[in-house]
Parts: sequence; C-alpha cells; structure tokens
Amino acid sequence: METAEIRQFQMYINGEWTPSESGETFNVVSPATGEILAKLPKGGPEDVKKAVESAVAAQEIIARMPNAKRTELATKVAEAIRANVSDFARDLTLEHGKPIRESIGEVADSAPNVLWQAEDLKRLEAPVLRSYTKPDMMFVMQREPLGTVAVITPWNFPWVMPAEFVVQAMLAGNSVVFKPASTTPISAVHLMECVDQAGVPKGVINLITGPGNTAGMALIEHPMIDGICFTGDTATGEVISKRAGLKKMSLELGGLGPLIIMDDANIEKAVEDIVYGCYTTSGQCCCANERIFVHEKIHRQIVDQLTSRVRELKLGDPLKEDTDMGPMNNEPTVAKVEENVHDAIDKGAKLVAGGRRAQGFPTKLYYPPTVVDNVTPHMQFNYIETFGPVAPIFEFSNLDQAINMANEPRYGLSMAIHTANLKTAFYAAQRLKAGQVNINESVYFWDYHHPWGGFRRSGYGRVAGKWTLESFTELKTININIGRSEFQAGG
Ligand code: NAD
Repeated sequence: METAEIRQFQMYINGEWTPSESGETFNVVSPATGEILAKLPKGGPEDVKKAVESAVAAQEIIARMPNAKRTELATKVAEAIRANVSDFARDLTLEHGKPIRESIGEVADSAPNVLWQAEDLKRLEAPVLRSYTKPDMMFVMQREPLGTVAVITPWNFPWVMPAEFVVQAMLAGNSVVFKPASTTPISAVHLMECVDQAGVPKGVINLITGPGNTAGMALIEHPMIDGICFTGDTATGEVISKRAGLKKMSLELGGLGPLIIMDDANIEKAVEDIVYGCYTTSGQCCCANERIFVHEKIHRQIVDQLTSRVRELKLGDPLKEDTDMGPMNNEPTVAKVEENVHDAIDKGAKLVAGGRRAQGFPTKLYYPPTVVDNVTPHMQFNYIETFGPVAPIFEFSNLDQAINMANEPRYGLSMAIHTANLKTAFYAAQRLKAGQVNINESVYFWDYHHPWGGFRRSGYGRVAGKWTLESFTELKTININIGRSEFQAGG
C-alpha cells in the first residue's frame, strides 16, 4: 500500500475555510495503514458559537430563497459529488477502512440521495381545511423551516449519512451546522467543497470538526439551535435527548437487526442475505444483521453453508478491487466485537469461523468474518449491538418464540423474516416491533424514499423521501375568515 501524505483541512464557517480558535488540531489515522492521513481543527464551544451565529444570520436568506433556486443549489452539489467520485472514494476507504468497491458505491449514491429531496421539494404539499364549527373560517396549512439546525453524523457511512441530511435541511429552508464523527471527517470536508463550489450562500451550511462531548455537546445545547438531526449510538442519543431541552429532534440510533429463517425458507438466498447483512462494511451498519434465528430443522444446513461461504470472503487491503472486507474503523469498535465474542464463548457458544483479530496486517483493526453458533438470549449478542463482522446463530422451534427473542432487547430499526408462506411472513411482520420488516430480503436494506427510522431504543422520527423534508419543517396553520356568511346562498 502506498504512503499517504499528511494533509491539513479546515472547518467551513460563514463560507470561509477556518482553523479552530484555539489553534488545536487532531489527527485522522488510517485504519488500513496506521498512517496519519490528515490534521483537522479541534473545534470547541467558541467555534460552535461562531458557526451557529453565522447560520442564524444566514437563515432568512435561505428561507426566502425560491424553491427553484434551492433546488438548483442542491443539483450543483450533486454534480460536484459526481465529478469526484473516485478521488472521494479513495479518501473514504483510507479514513474508514471499507473496501474501495463499497466506497465508490457510497459516494456515487450520495448524489441521488441529495437529488431525491430536491425533487420532493417541488411537490411538497400541505392541506387546506374548512372549519367544522365556524363556516366562515378556512385553514391554510404550510410547512416552514425549523430555523437553524444541527446535523451530527456517525463514522460508519461518512458520505451517505450527511448526504441524507445536510443539503436536505437547506432545501427545507434551514441553515445548518454540521458536525461529523472524528475518525472520518475528510469526507465531510469534501462534501463542504461541493457545497462551496455549488455557490451555497455564506453561512447557510457550516462545518465544525472536533470531539462529540465538547464541540457536539456545545452545538446540542446552543440556545439558537432550533432542531437536531442526530445519527449515532443509542447511548449518545439518550444523553442528547436529555440535554437538548425543547429543540425539535430526530434520533436515528442503533439496531440489533434480527433475521428469522423458517424451515420452508430458500436456504441459498438466506445464506447470501446473512453474508450481505453481517459482513458488508464489516458489519458496521445500523441495519446490519446482528442476530440470526434459525428454525431447528434447518439449523445444521444454514451453519454448514454459511461457514463454507465465509471461507471465500477475502479480508485485506481495502484499496484492492477484489477485497471483500477491509479493517474495522476504530479500536473501541473492535474491542466491543471481541467482548461480545468472548462473552458468548464463555457462556457456552461455539466458534465456527474467525473469532480473533487477523495477524500480518499494518494495523490491529483487521477482524475476519466470524460465525458463532449455539448463541442464546442471555449472551451479550442479544442485547449489545456488536457492530462488527459476526453472524451469531440462535436456534428456535416455533415462530412465536423467534418473534419474542427478536423483540426482547427493545431495539427496532430493521428486522427480517425468510419463509415461503405469505401468511407466516405477514403474521411476523405485524408482530415484529421495528421501523421496517423485510420479507425474504436481508435485514440490511434501505432505499431513498421509504420512511426510515426506529421503534423503541432505535430512536424516533422518520427520514428518507418526503419524510426528510417533513422532519426539517414545522406545520403552520393560517386561519382566514373568508366572510362567506355575508353572501346569500345562490346569490
Ligand atoms: P456515536 O454516538 O459515538 O457518535 C455519533 C456522532 O455523535 C459523532 O459525530 C460524535 O462525535 C457525536 N457525539 C458523540 N457524543 C456526543 C455528545 N455527547 N454530544 C453531541 N455529539 C456527540 O456513534 P458512532 O459510533 O459514530 O456511530 C455508530 C452508531 O450509529 C451505531 O450504534 C449505529 O447503529 C448508529 N447508526 C444509526 C443509523 C440509523 O439510521 N439509525 C445510521 C448509522 C449509524
């Protein structure tokens, strides 16, 4: 692997590339090579204050801008992304660790994500109602921007997560302060380059880099922030929801994605969906397949076929085209995977494949695709999000038992069932408590335009499609007395 040069990036405040007030920086270290890739400003409360003040000052500009002009700006951002997919994807792989194939897909996917809501804005509707009690009154509803919003994103999808929110908040008429995760901020800087190139007015979109517990928290608590769109860990979401006060919020949090495989399921398709759901992005996805519930009659077949399929997966240099899995992103995440695997083995589970850090790589973050069998509900896999490349296999004998196990930890982002029987599938879909239930599809699935969000500990609020614009706006009702009673009927 080639040696990367150390680059210096800045924050983006009021349309200017800006260092931190303190002059402090932090390093971004590649999980793939262990080398320092870049230095970024370690933003603190003073920088957050500056960014929020710029955003507040610019909010009227974007709120008054015609939708046609906002759509044009979003289109230019998408064009700038499209023009740089391969360079941005290379940086994404180096700072994140995901294979280059996935990075190219993720960056390329960011453009249509932005464009989706640019289209939705053209058709955003609000109803008109007539009064029930007073015939002269008519109610005209309209959607108004929240004001100035904070967008805080995690490291697992450094392009797609911001591309689902940052430009969309602007499309809805808000000004934005965006804070990305500190292990993957280079992608966020590239998104700001696209925003800058598109000609978004100064102050409408700002970037702050720095630690979550200082820069992130200062943003959450700033009194001039009207709305928060947070994506990240459930524990962080809980802290934020306590500290944010009355600000409008959408919280996109963790998942424990269960897949239920019935004895009439197509085994080959189920195994492919496990592989996709557990090992894409090394399992570091909110809708990853975290738990696999297999009917006792097909348990052995699933484990055997999965184990031989896992042997074909190639762990290695993420910049190589034929690599299936690169390193994981950071040490705490690998340590959590190790903890869940050790806990299960200590409590009697059986390690079938992988299960310890791979040797002979430039960093200690390379963890192989792992299969753990005979997992039971009292093991950590069942209640602590693993967020790594592990397929924990549980066995069940009837559907109700599987549904109860799936629901038990009270996380509800994405769930799935495989069966040939439509009634069984619908019975499960009605009883599984999650924002989405996939039938004969991997747990790991999303699209641009169906409502996305969690039940219970997976958060609240819905995004994607028109729901993103709804979550960045508030409904206002304008009540008009039309004086109709002054006219004679039929006159
Ligand atoms: P995290 O909660 O540690 O960090 C997320 C972001 O919050 C980062 O930018 C971080 O700097 C910031 N942050 C941390 N503490 C903060 C605080 N006290 N105040 C304000 N900001 C703070 O999460 P992570 O490890 O980056 O991401 C992984 C998690 O995100 C997983 O649980 C995953 O399931 C979840 N996720 C959910 C979705 C979804 O759509 N539901 C999508 C992607 C990831």
